[in-house]
Amino acid sequence: LVTDDPILYRARVAGGGQALFEIATDRQLTYAQLDLRIARCAGLLSAMLGARRDGARVAMLARNSMDSIVLAFACQRAGAIYVPLNWRLNAAELWPILADCTPALLIHDEEFSVVVASLADADAEMTVISTDGPTSLAARIEASLPMKPVPADADGACVLLYTSGTTGQPKGVVITRRNAFFAGINFSFVGEIGPQTVALCDLPFFHTIGLIAVARTTLMLGGTLVISDRFTPARTLAALADRQRAITHYFAVPQIALALRNDPAYSAAALSGLHALFVGGAPLTQALIESYLADGVALVNGYGMSEAGTVLHVPLDRRAVQDNPGSVGLPAPLLDIRIVGEDGRDVGEGEIGEFWLRGPAVTPGYWNKPLESEGAFTDGWYRTGDLGRREANGFYRIVDRLKDMYISGGENVYPAEVEAALASHPDILDVAVVGISDVRWGECGIAYVVLRPGAAATAEAIAVHCAARLAAFKRPTRILFVEAIPRTASGKVQKHVLRQLHSETLQ
Ligand code: ATP
Ligand code: MG
Repeated sequence: LVTDDPILYRARVAGGGQALFEIATDRQLTYAQLDLRIARCAGLLSAMLGARRDGARVAMLARNSMDSIVLAFACQRAGAIYVPLNWRLNAAELWPILADCTPALLIHDEEFSVVVASLADADAEMTVISTDGPTSLAARIEASLPMKPVPADADGACVLLYTSGTTGQPKGVVITRRNAFFAGINFSFVGEIGPQTVALCDLPFFHTIGLIAVARTTLMLGGTLVISDRFTPARTLAALADRQRAITHYFAVPQIALALRNDPAYSAAALSGLHALFVGGAPLTQALIESYLADGVALVNGYGMSEAGTVLHVPLDRRAVQDNPGSVGLPAPLLDIRIVGEDGRDVGEGEIGEFWLRGPAVTPGYWNKPLESEGAFTDGWYRTGDLGRREANGFYRIVDRLKDMYISGGENVYPAEVEAALASHPDILDVAVVGISDVRWGECGIAYVVLRPGAAATAEAIAVHCAARLAAFKRPTRILFVEAIPRTASGKVQKHVLRQLHSETLQ
């Protein structure tokens, strides 16, 4: 028996319990039905891939569905590697990812068939299957014979998860069966997931939060996973307000939590059944936390990454949320965390350094990228590239990304702090600050600002606003107005795009 396969276990323990519910179709599966479908899908993979099956990459370019989950676990059972692709990317962006992971199979929704056609042209070896029509994935699964799990190596890969591409090209993070299991255990602990959990997931399964924290953890612990194939405020609010569904856990990135709160259909009553509103993946504003708190909704911040799953999390406790504004909480149980200064030594309490991680949920490295993998680890510790500090009560804070910090006149500047000061200006809708080289100061900051519709603040007025809130070395030397800030699919600012833009405008 493969002991890390949670569905096998759950099918035996409480096979009749509801595992999945799909909002778009009203379809549902019990654990026993899910187990059988996974076994058939593993049989399909085995029949299609034959001897090539072991370690083969099976890519999926599709919105969230029951069969995304079925396929993910079927890969694990058949010894293959599940690669969920970001469907918000275009063909030119997907091409290097496919060239990197060279999948034997690509499963896609019809809505992405044009992109897939151009990708398939370039790779004749890849078999392409649609999720629709007579030879769809579903039809093939149903026509296949169930397969027994293959013997598993705990350190073998089961998922390849591409990073968001916030700081550059997305990197393929190897997730071993051990990593996936312990990431699930970690999140179940900090997220208080159990058989009573009904988790709504409209975050895409191509990022760690959706696939690992929400989907895998909920199913590992015997809860019910409610799958939505897209986020719209109306649909999510309706699902949350449905008392029969009784959703207990909902997960968002800050951009989604904000869109939900600002929607005309928003009501605090719709969210009153939630244990907590989980938010993570990008910096969160204090104003948003407070606006939910004022409605009685505990918005809990969590910090994690593709490479390690959930790392830090605010406890599901109103007092903890209230007493630690802006904090990302306490460490997940099976992670060792160090905060390391520039000199390679651990910093003291309250001092800023880089988070280094070690533990069974941490990836062994990147796919196909030996140099990057080697560069990301020191003595077995994964260096996150994120700066933060630990406070006297043991709670942690994120300060900024190491790559984004810059040094102006010999002083460290954390753009996140500058951005928070700018964002408090009533006319500013969105903002990003990047450091660029400067003859006089070494480096200085440029603020890219998006004004609210109809707002007319001038650069001078914004500079006055900054002067009242920030030390001189932190103030941006230039304020540039733009239409939009470049962001990733999960809403993170792509500062390398802004820096590139800046260097191009200089030439
Ligand atoms: P890439 O590695 O390709 O540049 P990425 O780091 O954004 O992209 P992910 O693994 O999806 O890819 O995101 C993890 C990162 O997101 C973390 O390293 C951190 O910088 C940021 N992050 C995650 N959670 C939070 C949070 N709660 N607050 C602030 N930042 C967060
Ligand atoms: Mg990263």
